[in-house]
Amino acid sequence: MSGTAPDGGLYVPENLPHFDPDALTQIDTVSDLATQLLAPFFEGSALSDQLGEICDEAFSFPARLQLLEKSERGSLSVLELFHGPTAAFKDFGARFLAACMTRIIGTPDRGTVPVTVLVATSGDTGGAVAAAFHRKPGVRVVVLFPDGRVTARQQHQLTCWGDNIISLAVRGGFDECQRLAKEMFADAELVQRYRLCSANSINVGRLLPQSVYYAQASLANDRRNSLPSSFVIPTGNLGNAFAGIWAKQMGLPIDQIILATNANRTIPEFLGSGEWNPRASIPTLASAMDVGDPSNMERLLNLWGDAAEIGRRLRAVSVSDESIAQQIAAEYARSGLAWCPHTATAFNVYRDLPDEERSEHHFIIIATAHAAKFESIVEPLIGETIELPDELSRLLKWPASFETIDAVTDEITSRL
Ligand SMILES: *Cc1c(COP(=O)(O)O)cnc(C)c1O
Repeated sequence: MSGTAPDGGLYVPENLPHFDPDALTQIDTVSDLATQLLAPFFEGSALSDQLGEICDEAFSFPARLQLLEKSERGSLSVLELFHGPTAAFKDFGARFLAACMTRIIGTPDRGTVPVTVLVATSGDTGGAVAAAFHRKPGVRVVVLFPDGRVTARQQHQLTCWGDNIISLAVRGGFDECQRLAKEMFADAELVQRYRLCSANSINVGRLLPQSVYYAQASLANDRRNSLPSSFVIPTGNLGNAFAGIWAKQMGLPIDQIILATNANRTIPEFLGSGEWNPRASIPTLASAMDVGDPSNMERLLNLWGDAAEIGRRLRAVSVSDESIAQQIAAEYARSGLAWCPHTATAFNVYRDLPDEERSEHHFIIIATAHAAKFESIVEPLIGETIELPDELSRLLKWPASFETIDAVTDEITSRL
């Protein structure tokens, strides 16, 4: 329930369980796989008996692995993580976290202050968290999003809920939203008065379920090819990629992990120079990855010690807006498939790998959002209208409302 540890750091497991992939291939459904993988993390928890039910609730939509290209010794697949209620991978983490938290909160007594989930979002987190907690008893959600930095459809998803969801546009970028949330969580009096808790990607309850789709996809590829998979992961705050790293550490058949960032180069520069230079975020086409100070680096340092060691185990490549745009058009010309700017970032990194590497490995590109969420960017590049997935078109019919605030905590507390 508390996103950050009392000393201000992030929670990490003391040790990770280790699985034999052969034992896991017998499991049929994603929910069963999730239950098995996550059981060690719930040992001794009041929720351990309910883990199966929690996984059924969270993994109620597919993570589709689509084979795109195949050569003699290599292949390219895309893992589509955008078939949930808000059409981005964040639905997995948000739904799992909500399923856990609502069980912990239980049925509230009349008159008790609701638990307040405070979430700073660069675009997709807020919608996923709002969708996951909408109309759940005993909880309200405050969504902070950067004013004017999200697409019209993203903004709609952040602001169409009403009921127990409060949507606030913050003047400034995502970093300002994140700073506001951090400030409130650091104030013990506020935390107690509003029963604040976090649903951001720093929450360990978001990361754990994300490791499940890496497990599922790498096991599926392993069954098909008897070889481990390499992943190219669109990366911002490092929550999605970190879950993939956990999956690898837990023994799943995962080979290379390559992080694809946009022009926010903090991570690639760190792996290159060893210098950690967090900075303000730069707005890019792949806006959900506009993060200049990725929080989860702290976890990576905890796992592997320093930049040199991290650099031995991972690669990170930065992609310019120009290349992202070019890649969206190029992939559409090649396959007739439209990818969102985040996914296109990973495609660009993959296409730039040496030919030998691509032909000798089974690569999986993580597709983080549906292109229809970023239609104002993608449609002009491909010259076609993208069909809306059903879930999204339903949400877009709901009326939206939000308020715009300055980046100070009073503006939030006065609305609670
Ligand atoms: C959040 C998000 C990302 C970045 O994920 P991190 O966990 O912050 O690295 C990439 N693509 C999309 C569509 C997102 O919503």
